[in-house]
Amino acid sequence: MNEVYLDYNASAPLDPRVDEAMMPILTGSVGNASSVHRFGRRQAAAVDDARGQVAALVGGRASGVVFTSGATEANNLALRGAAEAAEGRRRMLVSAVEHASVARPARWLAERGLVKLDVIEVTSGGFVEPAAMEQLVGDDVAVVSVMAANSETGVLNPVAEIAERVHSAGALLHCDATQLVGRLPFDMAAAGVDLVSMSGHKICGPGGTGALVGTRQALGRLEPLLHGGGHERGLRSGSLNVAGIVGLGAAARLALDERESESARVGVLRDRLVAELEARVEGVSQNGDTARRLPNTANLRFAGADAEAVMANMDPVAVSIGSACSTGSIEPSAVLLAMGLSHEAAFESVRFSLGRFTTASEVDTAVQSAAAAVERVRSLV
Ligand code: PMP
Repeated sequence: MNEVYLDYNASAPLDPRVDEAMMPILTGSVGNASSVHRFGRRQAAAVDDARGQVAALVGGRASGVVFTSGATEANNLALRGAAEAAEGRRRMLVSAVEHASVARPARWLAERGLVKLDVIEVTSGGFVEPAAMEQLVGDDVAVVSVMAANSETGVLNPVAEIAERVHSAGALLHCDATQLVGRLPFDMAAAGVDLVSMSGHKICGPGGTGALVGTRQALGRLEPLLHGGGHERGLRSGSLNVAGIVGLGAAARLALDERESESARVGVLRDRLVAELEARVEGVSQNGDTARRLPNTANLRFAGADAEAVMANMDPVAVSIGSACSTGSIEPSAVLLAMGLSHEAAFESVRFSLGRFTTASEVDTAVQSAAAAVERVRSLV
């Protein structure tokens, strides 16, 4: 059987067109983007183009783009940076379904007494009700962090409605949009989001690249994680990764140009995958509100079949259980538990995430493979 990759939410393959954009920088260019000679200026011009491309993807200003090593760093910069700069505001609100790179820095800050952390609960559908956030927010809150789309379920949050309420309290709204950008339209200015995190390797760009994009006012309310030469408005010192940034910019441009057609195509494939599995396998149910979800993601429970065993039996078809970062530990998915699923249900749930290069025949292969794997695992019980 051929290899099939249905784990785009963990990491998407590099688009050959991104590779093409990066190659001249990797092989033929020299110079530090901060240098004033012509070599440096050429690098800086390439970085500036990418800044515009990234800003366009999220509806931000080019001057508000802070390049980072990925969404993990962007999330840490937003939360730790806001907590350290906050004067008088000592509380932080974080949704119960955030990625570890938001949840853990928030907990780290709370454990050190730097903030008081309140967790915003989610509905059984996996999203934050604006009213649930509103009950917790107040003029002692520095920052609220609610993701745009969940990596495990694909469920979307009502970010604009949340933003209104956060701003009434004078707090900042940080939104980890890593899984949403490039798949659905996102406009931070229209939604009223102050700080947005995104990542290169989720949009068919290079790994180890990403950005925190902020409004002028929000960036002014952050302390840097890295101190040094004062790059990136003093918020992220370190000579720029020019090739990576150019790749990130190219990936952002492609994502903006193609997200609509790609999402429509991928949505049809995802729906076909789910429908076929429901037809062939008994005891399948979907986790998360399917009416508000990314078009590429399905999180399915196969009752009575351990997900880790199902995944192992599906090889060489790649899917995932929980988030990639918690794989390897025996903890059930914190996201699914926060939605009220039992441990048993969480341990029986598998995530399928499709993307730009997924084909119909790959989906058919995955359906066959998953159906056979579930049957095998159930027969062993
Ligand atoms: N946030 C979300 C929602 C993610 O899915 C991921 C990647 N699993 C990250 C942040 C971390 O991104 P990166 O790998 O760029 O650090």
